[in-house]
Amino acid sequence: MAISWRQRSGRYAAIAVIAAALAAVVTLAVSRAQRTAVPVAAAPDANVLLITVDTLRADRLAQFGYARAATPAFDRLAREGVMFRAAYTAVPLTLPSHATMMTGLLPPTHGVRDNGGFYLDPARETLASRLKPRGYASAAFVSSFVLDRRWGLAKGFDDYYDHFPVAVNDLAAMAGVQRRGAETWAQARQWIGAHASDRFFVWLHLFDPHTPYDPPEPFRSRFKDRPYDGEIAYVDALLSEVLGELTARSLLDTTIVILAADHGEGLGDHDEDEHGLLAYDSTLHVPWIIRLPHRMLEGTAIDQPVGLVDMMPTVLDLVGAPVPADLDGRSTVRLMRSPPGATDVLYAETLYPRLHFGWSELVSVRDSRFKLIRGRHPELYDYRQDPGETRNLADAHRDVAARLDQIASRIASAAAAPARSAGVERDAASRLQALGYFSGSPPPTAPGPLADPRDKTQSFRTLAHARQLFEEHRDAEAIVALQQLVESDPDLEPAHRLIRDAWISRGQSAAAVRWLEQQLARRPDDVRLLIDLAIIERQAGRTDRAAAAITKALTHRPDEVEALVLAGEIQRDRRQFDEALGSFSRASRAAPADSTVRMQTARTLFAMGRTADAEGALSSLVAADPHVAGAHYLLAQIAERRDDGVGAEREYRSEIAQSPWDYQARFNLALLLTGRAAHREALALLESIPALAPHFGDVHFYIAKAILDVGDPARFAGAVEAARRGLQLAPESPSAPLGHYVLGDVYRLQGRPADAEREMRAGRELESRLAAPGRR
Ligand SMILES: [Zn+2]
Repeated sequence: MAISWRQRSGRYAAIAVIAAALAAVVTLAVSRAQRTAVPVAAAPDANVLLITVDTLRADRLAQFGYARAATPAFDRLAREGVMFRAAYTAVPLTLPSHATMMTGLLPPTHGVRDNGGFYLDPARETLASRLKPRGYASAAFVSSFVLDRRWGLAKGFDDYYDHFPVAVNDLAAMAGVQRRGAETWAQARQWIGAHASDRFFVWLHLFDPHTPYDPPEPFRSRFKDRPYDGEIAYVDALLSEVLGELTARSLLDTTIVILAADHGEGLGDHDEDEHGLLAYDSTLHVPWIIRLPHRMLEGTAIDQPVGLVDMMPTVLDLVGAPVPADLDGRSTVRLMRSPPGATDVLYAETLYPRLHFGWSELVSVRDSRFKLIRGRHPELYDYRQDPGETRNLADAHRDVAARLDQIASRIASAAAAPARSAGVERDAASRLQALGYFSGSPPPTAPGPLADPRDKTQSFRTLAHARQLFEEHRDAEAIVALQQLVESDPDLEPAHRLIRDAWISRGQSAAAVRWLEQQLARRPDDVRLLIDLAIIERQAGRTDRAAAAITKALTHRPDEVEALVLAGEIQRDRRQFDEALGSFSRASRAAPADSTVRMQTARTLFAMGRTADAEGALSSLVAADPHVAGAHYLLAQIAERRDDGVGAEREYRSEIAQSPWDYQARFNLALLLTGRAAHREALALLESIPALAPHFGDVHFYIAKAILDVGDPARFAGAVEAARRGLQLAPESPSAPLGHYVLGDVYRLQGRPADAEREMRAGRELESRLAAPGRR
């Protein structure tokens, strides 16, 4: 068996020596010769339609032996196209996998290692940016917030349809972060209609098979007992519409239609239900089909292993564009007609367990027969014979395992500087959690070797179950389940965080403190528990007790960034500004690139009145990390302090573009707009806030007032409703008198003077009561 590593410039070239040196040289030479010899299947004038189906496990299609498959359109595509029977993703996560497809680079090279918090470097070329100079009009239509343009995949596209209605939908609802395939396809269909005579590249992303499995009718009823299959059948129906549309527009034979999944789904195999935690082929093996114009090479099935990393070079090769030499992937066109030659070594990884749980990452490497999964206990599978990965051969074939392990080390250690930004703060994290991603900063790692995620599948399941309970508003049950979980797995940071946040949002600080103190009695040195205690005490306004807890945490771990940041925040609460700056500066020495720490420094300078210093800190921060959340908000406040309304407006708009869920920026911008009588936009902004901040009662007073300002009598009933809602949610707020005054005005305008007078009086009474001495 000959193995070659794809020819690469620079440091990777050395990898070729992994095979017997002579064999490697020969196969490299052969594949290079083949590449220059072929325009085998090139379709130089073809349009490109790339359809990525999220979370579509390969063996759910008939082509991989699934007897219950109900996928006529997939079947047709496979029949009329070229099918890669052994295609693998480089990472079982949506954003990194698509980044690999679009760049032809592996995650260690392009740097996007996880969903949320990682951004594709804007300097990277993408498939879209490579096709553009060749005259392609291009558009992308994505169905999940995880692929929102903010993460960098829009590069090179003329149009990028993400537009997730973050402002109008309940964030807890999945609808806010994903959309059904039919809706996305409707947009793409319209665009294709308008560009039918152009040369085009369209990327259509369909998210439906991702959890939750809730296919629309008639699939819901037809697949009552297997809703995942129902989602796939639904996507198949859409695919049939896509092919029908291309046929109707006579585009099917001028278009290369490509279908691939970004990753599979565990479905319980290896104790994994979804994807991302482990690196088995239930989540790495993906369908990949290419239908060429005029059904060239129809019915071809290719058994050679290929990677989604080969997607971009393959497409470039097919349309006759030059294939850059410095990619991790290479064109698969050579495999479409030639007899099989050398097999590439395929790399895959998931850093998800490390970034979210403090467990070890998993790295996998396969050749044409064996697959290694690294970790605390290596696993080696003959994956062609044993696709279920049930017989670990690591002991039986130590030489193979060692050889693949060496390759894995080289690729993984060549990682570029990670493009992680600390800019994803809590609100973004909760949005990603709604997608099933426990987001957040990497947890403080306990000393000692990292746990292996393969030993943690039960903890992971319990966590997922608890999250489900929270979504069903069964908080008490969720907290009990999590408390039991941390008893058995005390270092499981996300479980602590879920408990803590639940208590904070329920305002149950006494119960929280009681439980934490109980835990601390048994584990007095536990820094995680001390941090949680400090957070709870601070939230409850007991800053002295918060300070005591955090001081104790820092005596155990003086360089713990999270503890240092919290110490600084508590000091700032107590107006000990110099001490706060000291804490942030220690945190920044421990984590120099951490944007959150630098944001805290700027906030402190602002609180001290050192406006120019705060502004300087923010400017350099934004230059280093354009995605940092909160920076433009603070710049806007600085501008407001200087009475620079224009500057403030610009900065608030930047913040909203960066963090659409930031309701405070929306609120402040709305007030600015009201000040210059832009009432309609102010109203639209205000009306977007309740979905983002359901407990922010004051906003309803301002919505009521804005409706009045817009002055459309047909909407006055809405003003009454909003004012009453505000009075119900925030009866003692300093803004509450406004609610009565708006009601009074509406009644006056409606010719109800007695009602108007009653509300005006109620407003004045409330105003004087709230202003009475002794009240804050
Ligand atoms: Zn995905």
